[in-house]
Amino acid sequence: MVSADIIVIGAGHNGLVAANYLAKAGLRVLVVERSDRVGGACVTDEIAPGFKVSAAAYVSGLFRPQIIEDLELAKFGLRQVAFDPQGFCPFPDGKYLMLWSDGEKTAREIAKFSKKDAAAYPEYEAMWAEVYDLVEPMLLAPPVPIAELVSLLRGPEAEDLLRRLLFYSAEELLDEYFESDQVKAAFANESVIGHFSGPSAPGTAFTLAHNLLGNIDGQVGGWGLVLGGMGALPDALAAAARARGVEILLRSPVERVRVRGGRAVGVRLEGGRTIDAKVVVSTADPKRTFLQMLEPDQLPAEFRRSVGAIKMHGAAMKVNCALSELPCWNAADGTPGPQHRGSTYIGPSIDYVEDASIRGSRSSRRASSIRPSRRAESTRSRSTCSTARTTWHPVPGTNSRSRTGTGSLRPWRSTPRTCRRRSSPGTSSRPSTSSGGSG
Ligand SMILES: Cc1cc2nc3c(=O)[nH]c(=O)nc-3n(C[C@H](O)[C@H](O)[C@H](O)COP(=O)(O)OP(=O)(O)OC[C@H]3O[C@@H](n4cnc5c(N)ncnc54)[C@H](O)[C@@H]3O)c2cc1C
Repeated sequence: MVSADIIVIGAGHNGLVAANYLAKAGLRVLVVERSDRVGGACVTDEIAPGFKVSAAAYVSGLFRPQIIEDLELAKFGLRQVAFDPQGFCPFPDGKYLMLWSDGEKTAREIAKFSKKDAAAYPEYEAMWAEVYDLVEPMLLAPPVPIAELVSLLRGPEAEDLLRRLLFYSAEELLDEYFESDQVKAAFANESVIGHFSGPSAPGTAFTLAHNLLGNIDGQVGGWGLVLGGMGALPDALAAAARARGVEILLRSPVERVRVRGGRAVGVRLEGGRTIDAKVVVSTADPKRTFLQMLEPDQLPAEFRRSVGAIKMHGAAMKVNCALSELPCWNAADGTPGPQHRGSTYIGPSIDYVEDASIRGSRSSRRASSIRPSRRAESTRSRSTCSTARTTWHPVPGTNSRSRTGTGSLRPWRSTPRTCRRRSSPGTSSRPSTSSGGSG
């Protein structure tokens, strides 16, 4: 029987971060992971010979620079690169909009659609900068209760900002700044990530805020790639943890958290092996942790009911493709260029994004319990495809032939091999099928 000060269940990136900090604080830490590798949803897989992809999570940016510094992850091989442009939004008429890291460059792109919108863009950015200043300090702090969150606001302007963010739809917020439907659509694509509502649903303005939280090497609002694919992140974390004395047991599924006198005192693995510890940290999901790893009488009934009521239906789907060539569009051809460097947003109008979101939710298990907005009802019969966020990248640091592709193989054209030649604007029709990813 082994023992440790702390057992961490799960070697996903959150479990490994916790293990590193605890070991750094001088504790003896044991990580138990059911899989045969570390990483959880952050893994690099070879999906076809020579094609390595970040199989689930793929866009880096939420991992805080402070953690990279504290745990010296660069020393253990972690490297990230920011996208630039951050986003490419092709439209069926052959136009496109690039969202560059540089606000002035983005404003020039926006001017292709509306001079008024280009002039409003700095104000839009300034609004988000205010939100960032409010939210960023909380990210690595214990969660603030909602009542206290409101009390952090100083003055009527800050209060008004929070009210708009919490209660507005993304569409309402974008309407305040922009007139062009394409410009609004380019931003609205980001508002439908991770939930089952379209941009007209109240509360979706707040989803746009998640975009702000990207940070690659100090570039605020920056998103990018991990060299070697997302699996390189937990690999660096695991190497750092081992160097700090952490033991990681793979192929070790926890069956039960052992409890004595109302306290966790260790775990029992499948197969019967038991391990003692003073504290158990679980990074498995709450239902698995509280409803499966503990006996019902070990928790208050009300708490068990609350955990049972947590909704955990996935709102993202991802398709990884190995492509024979880079994607090409009416708006930009297949010659390697900026259109292939960042995320690609397939969602040319607000109505389209709305429609796609509703279709996505209908196909989910929860669809029957969601009431689509009136507007979505009116548009749903017009479109046959869903919105998608795609990335097309060689995985840096791996085989140079390798490419990641998430999303539809042929999102806009039915004959990708002919599209090295740019076609006339406006000849494309909406695709009859599409699949895509968001995360
Ligand atoms: C399709 C998809 C795309 C995503 N895209 C992005 C993205 O682009 N960018 C981004 O930042 N985030 C993205 N995410 C979210 C991100 O992947 C997760 O937030 C993150 O991986 C959570 O990490 P974690 O360590 O908390 O949990 P997990 O990665 O789920 O790790 C939990 C670990 O616990 C282990 N475990 C579970 N039960 C047991 C048990 N009984 N015994 C032992 N071990 C156990 C599991 O095997 C797993 O390794 C995406 C998620 C998905 C599903």
